[in-house]
Amino acid sequence: MTADPRALASDARPHLAPAPVSAAQPASARIRARIHAAGRRFNANDNISEFIEGDELDELQAEVEARMREVLKSLVIDTETDHNTQETAKRVAKMFLNEVFRGRYTMAPAVTEFPNVEHLNELMIVGPITIRSACSHHLCPIMGRLWIGVMPNQHSDLIGLSKYARLADWIMSRPQIQEEAVTQLANLLQEKIKPDGLAIVMEADHFCMQWRGVKDVDSKMINSVMRGSFLKDANLRREFLALVDARKS
Ligand SMILES: [Zn+2]
Repeated sequence: MTADPRALASDARPHLAPAPVSAAQPASARIRARIHAAGRRFNANDNISEFIEGDELDELQAEVEARMREVLKSLVIDTETDHNTQETAKRVAKMFLNEVFRGRYTMAPAVTEFPNVEHLNELMIVGPITIRSACSHHLCPIMGRLWIGVMPNQHSDLIGLSKYARLADWIMSRPQIQEEAVTQLANLLQEKIKPDGLAIVMEADHFCMQWRGVKDVDSKMINSVMRGSFLKDANLRREFLALVDARKS
């Protein structure tokens, strides 16, 4: 096994703690072993990009494709002669890893923070930002919108408008739970901007309510996070919610 060049390549990476990682294992097992060795979590909505090396994302995709083919087999779908499903396993694997769940496997988008040179301290609202995610219970789509309110202070860092959407997309492109998704986004923005107050309202359709289960097509889930001055100052909170409401319909 030591003759395997991939084993040598992975041993040559100095920044990772030694873990029982062997190139003979599938990529998912190697990545999992590194996460365990680091004592970290790998829930559906966690980002695990720092544990993925080299071409392992391609290996993961091949692995998911093979498993997805087995799922289709168990669903008794003819993937050999049905022209519609011959490539389905491949498409789904690609969609999971490169598109809808890529927020688990890729590093955070680069965001430049600017010092608040003008000492802006007025309420700023960004939105609606279109949200596409999936519930981690059924892997059904979640489609919605969110609004972000920021109350900066003179020590806050500011980020470009488009970056809010990029960061939101990175958090949402994972199997999520809406309440946890907005909390993760709030934590990320808090860390980047360090504002006096931060507010997020998210409103979304959950396809596991509409496509399956109770088939309630009109139900939306709305939730919010209020931090700092939005928690302490009822007027500020009211102003934010009124401005969001006015733009909702
Ligand atoms: Zn669900």
